[in-house]
Amino acid sequence: MVCETGPMAEIDEQPPAPVVGGAPREIAEGVHVVPDLRVPLVPNVGLVEGRDRLLVVDTGMGPGNGARVRAFADELADGRELVLTLTHFHPEHGFGAQAFRDATIVYNAAQLEELHEKGQAYVGMFRTFGEAVAEQLEGVELVDPDETYAGDSHELDLGGRIAELRTWGLAHTRGDQVVWLPEESILFAGDLVEERCFPIFPYFPPDDADVDGERWLRVLEQLEALEPEIVVPGHGDVGDSSLIATVREFITLLRDETRARSAAGVGVEEAVAQLDEELRALHPDWVQPEWIAFGVRHFHDRA
Ligand SMILES: [Zn+2]
Repeated sequence: MVCETGPMAEIDEQPPAPVVGGAPREIAEGVHVVPDLRVPLVPNVGLVEGRDRLLVVDTGMGPGNGARVRAFADELADGRELVLTLTHFHPEHGFGAQAFRDATIVYNAAQLEELHEKGQAYVGMFRTFGEAVAEQLEGVELVDPDETYAGDSHELDLGGRIAELRTWGLAHTRGDQVVWLPEESILFAGDLVEERCFPIFPYFPPDDADVDGERWLRVLEQLEALEPEIVVPGHGDVGDSSLIATVREFITLLRDETRARSAAGVGVEEAVAQLDEELRALHPDWVQPEWIAFGVRHFHDRA
């Protein structure tokens, strides 16, 4: 239905409620993705079967989404033990963890510290994003893990299948973590890699400036070096390693164009205005162009 005028036009412009609406799709034997269906504030969720345990990667936002993901996990696990890990602390990825309190929950140390420091503030911030978001956050509880790991990796033996949790520290957040299945060559990348979505720079100084575009580029190089055959982005369609290259090329361009303007004495507001227009035009089919401005401010402040 197309409504160009009248009240329906306004209703149509409202984003859909951030609800996990997909069902698990098997992308390789025993490896499933609950697709985000390109709904804002819904992540791609991973479900990885081993002989003994089933690993869940991200939960969606709030108790309702967490329960939905839990139901998928229970059905696939069929009595096997559940393990939950999160790609990073952001609400739409991990704030459904309360549905997994009886599972084994594993975060990296930086992610837990970031959750403790910022979790409640992010609940407050996300509640301002509209009624549909606030509704999903109703009754949300932040959940500590059963296990944390220090260092840059942690191996989970699921029974006949290894899942490697890997972190390179600060990039999109302080504690970004990917899940790498070396045998199957599958990478769950979290928000380090999006598909047809402008990279998310959560640069909100002075409250939260823990994003580092330069380090992010180095991390993307590390992810490319894994040569994954299948890449599950934080948001958007599942693809191959070209997804990583596309993000790396975009962030490189964003950095270089911002630095060039800064060096030429172009102020931050003017640089934002110019690059917002230019980069939107470069990728007219990408969503969330509002993140361009945050990325420009980030690189301009560091130029
Ligand atoms: Zn994120």
